[in-house]
Amino acid sequence: MNYSCSFIPTLREVPADAVIISHRLMFRAGMLRKLANGLFTYLPQGLRSFRKVEQIVREEMDAIGALEIKPTVIVPGELWKESGRWDSMGESLLRLKNRLNNDFVVTPTAEEAFTAIVRDELSSYRQLPLTLYQINTKFRDEVRPRYGVMRGREFVMKDAYSYHTDEKSLDDVYQAMGRAYRKIFKRCGLSVIPVKADSGAMGGSGSEEFMVESEIGDNTLILCKDCGYAANVEKAACKNDYTMPSSVEDAKKTAAVTPPFEKIDTPNVKTINELCVFLKTEPKSFIKTLIYRAVNVELDLSCAPGCSLLEQSKPLTDAPSVYPQAFFAVAIRGDLDVNEVKLASVLKASEVGLAADADVVRLTGAPVGFAGPVGLSGLPLIADFSVTAMSDAVTGALEKDLHCKHIAYGRDFEPWMVEDVRTVKTGDRCSTCGGELYIKMGNELGHIFKLGTKYTRSMNVSYLDENGKSRIPVMGCYGIGIDRTLASVIEEHHDDAGIIWPASVAPYHVIIVPIKYEGEVKLKADRLAAELTDAGLEVLLDDRNERPGVKFNDADLTGIPWRVVMGEKGLSQPIPQIEIKHRREKGNSMINLDKAAAELAQKIREEINQLNN
Ligand code: ATP
Ligand code: MG
Repeated sequence: MNYSCSFIPTLREVPADAVIISHRLMFRAGMLRKLANGLFTYLPQGLRSFRKVEQIVREEMDAIGALEIKPTVIVPGELWKESGRWDSMGESLLRLKNRLNNDFVVTPTAEEAFTAIVRDELSSYRQLPLTLYQINTKFRDEVRPRYGVMRGREFVMKDAYSYHTDEKSLDDVYQAMGRAYRKIFKRCGLSVIPVKADSGAMGGSGSEEFMVESEIGDNTLILCKDCGYAANVEKAACKNDYTMPSSVEDAKKTAAVTPPFEKIDTPNVKTINELCVFLKTEPKSFIKTLIYRAVNVELDLSCAPGCSLLEQSKPLTDAPSVYPQAFFAVAIRGDLDVNEVKLASVLKASEVGLAADADVVRLTGAPVGFAGPVGLSGLPLIADFSVTAMSDAVTGALEKDLHCKHIAYGRDFEPWMVEDVRTVKTGDRCSTCGGELYIKMGNELGHIFKLGTKYTRSMNVSYLDENGKSRIPVMGCYGIGIDRTLASVIEEHHDDAGIIWPASVAPYHVIIVPIKYEGEVKLKADRLAAELTDAGLEVLLDDRNERPGVKFNDADLTGIPWRVVMGEKGLSQPIPQIEIKHRREKGNSMINLDKAAAELAQKIREEINQLNN
């Protein structure tokens, strides 16, 4: 391709809203332009790299036996009503109507569309396992689209969905996907950190996210300095710094030496810090009790304490165990924080958040700041594990300006559930090896997920097993954001002058820069371009009538791995010479023109092979 015939509008200036490197460089290198907030157009140079990422993903999906299909992006709203997500998805789902007033959605993820296809075609266990995928447009009306294509509204995702007769078969595909994802990111030149992730409310049993480290990442990763444990903070566990009693009876025995609990006056003292000062003690001695509101709770609350309350006793009629809203009290040691994703997972809720002050007052009968586990009758109580080791604690007394001391778990209160709902922090100890945990911020590029029967059940998918019995298949889903992966490659591979593409995803492999594109130089540059193309390389020939400095700057900015400079001086040597330079290296070298095509082809092949293996 000759530069003058291409469309690579490079920029010296950076758009004002581009704060991260990849966003800036994609604009400056003429890869991308903005149509509206969160909506972008890939220009030819950008699309070439985009297609390469897509192709790598496609090859690795095909290699594990996943089969590509092409559903539509607009999907009937009926399917989303069947799965329940028409209502539960919230405002990020773009819903629309056609001229006949029928409902549709613009696909943000395609469990429904794929499951509908499988439902229509599946009859026998012999057809399973089946893994289908697409590489297709998604739309999510993100609250805050930002960082260019990292978080757009419209983007392309590879999404795969697998269907199985049993957990073992699901696990096989899940593991194969995990291996394929590692290969995909390696081939793109990316260093990813696979982390254990929350699989909570979706009802799944396994989930792994593929993260890249990023200062602007939305995810907090908990990593172990010693053993390589890695988890999203939403899921991360740590080693307890206390000994849990083996049973409530055991806890009661420990509490035998604790004085009976008593109420103490704590005028105008509400926060833990104020209490610490007032009682001259540490947050560790307190049990914090927080009131949460949960949405779409899939737990049987019929015998939970406090469930006589109206909002908790009215499950949705068509899904008997889903409560649209329910309130819970959560007790945790005073120096720890509740992790709302873990809590949502325990409650099988789509969303949890602190209850409004008015609800706290109504449900606890006390002003905000005085909730406590003892005598709490209006709410089911969930205790974090940390609370079970507390045999002489301070708590709120469910009365204004009063606290209780000498409170013992098991003796003075028994929670409805005891679970791990604590947020892990820097300095906590690894649950696997005891090593020190630390935090990094990360960006999610991919996600693999065991879904179980959530969609196959709600959408009535079944097959006949060996004995002719009707069964529901189990399902997995697996996504990779193509745009975000591409932007992350730039985040990891750039310098002050521009992008440094790994050969596997570079828009072109070689850029030929003739010092002056005329006469003998022009002839030889054209010939070299043809030879390189014949050798299987993708070549951009900078035939513009520009100063060499301008051409060099653009070559650096656009990040093409190999730059070939051709000038009269080198070409007039007894054996004609050209200069080659790798974008990553500072120095260049001279090689014989007649060997250039073979040599460059070899170098590019080597680099791509290295990424492949
Ligand atoms: P996030 O937490 O970043 O919003 P998600 O967990 O909602 O992502 P998934 O539903 O797991 O995303 O989608 C799979 C992949 O799609 C993500 O790992 C990411 O690479 C990509 N992706 C999701 N949302 C966007 C977006 N708004 N813009 C670009 N890529 C996205
Ligand atoms: Mg995800």
